[in-house]
Amino acid sequence: MERYAREQGFTNCQFFVDDGYSGTNYNRPDFQRLIGLVEEGKVAVIIVKDLSRLGRNYLQTGYYREVVFPEHDTRFIAINDNVDTYGSDNEFAPFKEIMDEWYAKDCSRKTRSAYRTKALKGEYTGPHPAYGYRKDPQDRHHLIPDEHAPIVKRMFQMAVEGKTVCQIAKTLEAEQIPTARAYLMDEYGKYKTDERARHPYAWTKRSVYQILSNPIYTGKLVSQRFTSRSFKDKRIIERPEDEWVIIENTHEALVDQETFDTVQLRIQVKQPFHQENPKNIFRGLIFCADCGVRLVFRARNKGKGKGRSPGEFSCGKYRRYGGGECSCHYITLVQLKELVLQDIRTHASLASTDRDKYAEHLASLSEREWNGERASYQKETEQCQRRISELDAILKKLYEDRVFGVISDDRYVVLSADYEAESSKLKDRCKELQNLLDSFTKRSREARDFAALVEQYTDITELTEELVHTLIEKIVVHEKMVADTETTMRVDIYYRFVGNVGGLDGEVLKAKKHQMSAVNF
Ligand SMILES: [Zn+2]
Repeated sequence: MERYAREQGFTNCQFFVDDGYSGTNYNRPDFQRLIGLVEEGKVAVIIVKDLSRLGRNYLQTGYYREVVFPEHDTRFIAINDNVDTYGSDNEFAPFKEIMDEWYAKDCSRKTRSAYRTKALKGEYTGPHPAYGYRKDPQDRHHLIPDEHAPIVKRMFQMAVEGKTVCQIAKTLEAEQIPTARAYLMDEYGKYKTDERARHPYAWTKRSVYQILSNPIYTGKLVSQRFTSRSFKDKRIIERPEDEWVIIENTHEALVDQETFDTVQLRIQVKQPFHQENPKNIFRGLIFCADCGVRLVFRARNKGKGKGRSPGEFSCGKYRRYGGGECSCHYITLVQLKELVLQDIRTHASLASTDRDKYAEHLASLSEREWNGERASYQKETEQCQRRISELDAILKKLYEDRVFGVISDDRYVVLSADYEAESSKLKDRCKELQNLLDSFTKRSREARDFAALVEQYTDITELTEELVHTLIEKIVVHEKMVADTETTMRVDIYYRFVGNVGGLDGEVLKAKKHQMSAVNF
């Protein structure tokens, strides 16, 4: 926009942005501010990317364009639609405006009702059928059992015989039966980057449970369980159960209803839950520096009469998949406790010596670190927005093609649904990114709060779970490094509010750096 304005020789530009407001609503704050300025005669030219940016209501938009703007000598340009109220022809504009309005109102509703009709007819509309079925080559809305159907049948059989989901997962893995996910990857090229795809037999409790609880295997289709709120708000919500569409006998059942019901009762029974070890005061906080997965805690039996070891951590991915995926990242609970305790005490004593100076220092360190993150979030936001407007343009073109009969209604429904889905996903991500960016602004204030908080712990001798979770956001463990006779291990401690304040240069942190490299093995 800015470039366009510059090229056209317009100076003194102002930008009006109503992000997060729908074009069907004219009570957008920036839009109202703009109209106010127009009415005061302060606006010479208004430039929008396309007409729909002004609004998606034909009468309102036309009123501004044909009455308000000319009255105040405001020139109006819509770049992509070739509209310029000064000079060139704009007979096409009213038509475009009608199109935009139809488009906004209609297309989402039509897409929805088409899906509902298909669901009521018992037609399958999902992208990838459940494990054990494939789409009928004669009719893509009909499911037929595939080569995995016998496996599904066997899983139900095992469950009826009283095997737990965990035992079923282990059996399948031992027999090297590919998981549902591995199959999707082969068949549709999905999840190629997912490490689970490289371990095609790694069945989990969850993947078994998902299959055993899916009513599709009794030969019925349950659809319309989820919907988005409206065509303006794409968040997914679950419909009330009486609105679900359940159609019986739409395809061949792999299990009879009675068996299915029995299995539901069996798998609902809570497995004796693996007792979380109360010694692990760092629960959920420790991560592997190389693969990003949580470290798992284990306290081994030392043998008869000797009790349990105090406990140690190692990389969760290494533990699940072995050395091919990550290395061990072994550290004991005792080592970690000592390290964290010392670090907290170092910070506490620095804070109590000169709290202001310490807080200032923390703030400056964290800013440096966050600037990188912030820039990457901003970049991603821009990329998302660019793609969203591309998709908007594509969808609009499709809609026009449909109105002019270039493509059929059915084809339109199929094509637009994909683009709609991508676009709504991107919009969600944009919101998420915005929240992250907002959180940065409030963080610098928090350095001061942290200094006040940590100051209280100058004399602590023992860590408690509560203390650890109050102060620490996460701890990242790097792999051991062997140099000459000394083995060291880097451990980054990220404090709440202020992030990782170690590992960076700065006078107050010398003590910490020294102490980190002093962990010997
Ligand atoms: Zn790892």
